[in-house]
Amino acid sequence: MKIRNPADGSVIAEVDADGTPAVRRKYLAARGAQPAWARRPIGDRLAAIAGFRERLIAEHESLARTLTQEVGKPIRQSRNELNGLTGRLDFFLAESRRALKDEKVHADAAQRIEERITHEPLGVVANISAWNYPYFVGSNVFVPALVAGNAVLYKPSEYATLTGLRIAELLHAAGVPDDVFVPVIGDGTAGSALLRQRVDGVFFTGSYGTGARIAASAGRRMIKVQLELGGKDPVYVCDDVDVAAAAAGIADGAFYNTGQSCCSVERIYVHATVYDAFVGAFVAEVRGYRIGDPMDEATYIGAITRRAQIDVLKAQVADARRHGAKLSCGGHAIKGRGNWFEPTVLVDVDHRMAVMRDESFGPIIGIMRVDDDDQAIRLMNDTEYGLTAAVYTRDRRRAQRLLGAVVAGTVYWNCCDRVSPRLPWSGLGHSGLGLTLSTYGIQAFTRPKAWHLRRD
Ligand code: NAD
Repeated sequence: MKIRNPADGSVIAEVDADGTPAVRRKYLAARGAQPAWARRPIGDRLAAIAGFRERLIAEHESLARTLTQEVGKPIRQSRNELNGLTGRLDFFLAESRRALKDEKVHADAAQRIEERITHEPLGVVANISAWNYPYFVGSNVFVPALVAGNAVLYKPSEYATLTGLRIAELLHAAGVPDDVFVPVIGDGTAGSALLRQRVDGVFFTGSYGTGARIAASAGRRMIKVQLELGGKDPVYVCDDVDVAAAAAGIADGAFYNTGQSCCSVERIYVHATVYDAFVGAFVAEVRGYRIGDPMDEATYIGAITRRAQIDVLKAQVADARRHGAKLSCGGHAIKGRGNWFEPTVLVDVDHRMAVMRDESFGPIIGIMRVDDDDQAIRLMNDTEYGLTAAVYTRDRRRAQRLLGAVVAGTVYWNCCDRVSPRLPWSGLGHSGLGLTLSTYGIQAFTRPKAWHLRRD
């Protein structure tokens, strides 16, 4: 399999993809190794994760460069991802013991009965991952899964293979046995070969289309499935905001990581009284973004990782213009080597347009005028997705009323495009099923076992 740098199209590495027999061998090895890993004291497993954390810090710059080369992420943003990862690891290191501890939930001396819950590992789990934040979306799954005593067959995205291999190398060096964390290399073909094995759980991060296929096949097997899928995340800007500050914050939420985040801002609704001022400030901010070599320290907009996405972005712009939208800036693919698209702002958009309905997953955003809060809520909820939603207002009560009415896994007041390890990360509808992060996201990799114990 050829690994290409999306910034210039050059081949940076060639790796062997796993065929079905190799995937089978890896599965059997993981199946054999998992019970001994689960029997080790949790302190041993946590020590391996702490060692992984140390190695990530020691290798920080070279890991950031590898990530930038293979996904086209601006180098500063690759460093930010690695810094954010150490924070997530700190959370798992601090909270896992408590989350996985056996619980005594009832004792009745007269009846001589005691009731307990233990948190058992699922066994061998498949972790099929995305490329846009490979450290974040991978570690949300494999770290708590390993700590809970599972073996993990980890399939990085074919667009983040080198990063996936480095993650494996660092985990193994930190003491996770080779057969307990096993990278499976390749594209969707390797992914589907993995899902034909008798794994005990599937933890998938990626698009709705692939997720729906995976859920259907796992459904027949009756195994645990979690799906972290896409979004069409809205922001509503009320009439009482500091327009310049809101525009700068929301533009960052839309364009950071070149718009290739599951929780990127994908739709903006602005109260009519501040609409013109907001659009002016927003477009000025976007025009100031530096686009260019992802290795350059000053770059803010990097390459489009998957070449095919450029056609999606072009089609959304053409469809919006056909229905009457206006381009305030950008709107075109950039010709030359590599995959590039101009940061794009569309105004006078509405919900007939694909740009307001389908995930864009790139540096493009639509801004729509609304007359009042009720119209904003209706429009925010007019979607198949339900990952995040944000409201900008000075009034906390107004925000609470609005965000209470929005159907989404995560809501933000005066912020956006933010993930905390302390809070559950989950989506509704086409955004997915299940959750990661928080203490619930540690227990997600276990099954609760019920013990009824009566003394003779
Ligand atoms: P994708 O669906 O194309 O691929 C995801 C993974 O599935 C890859 O590893 C791929 O090789 C594998 N795959 C493809 N076909 C398969 C099959 N038939 N069987 C098994 N595996 C298969 O998605 P992507 O382009 O890597 O990621 C982008 C998407 O991920 C976006 O929609 C984004 O919003 C979403 N995402 C969601 C979250 C979240 O937390 N909700 C986080 C990051 C990304």
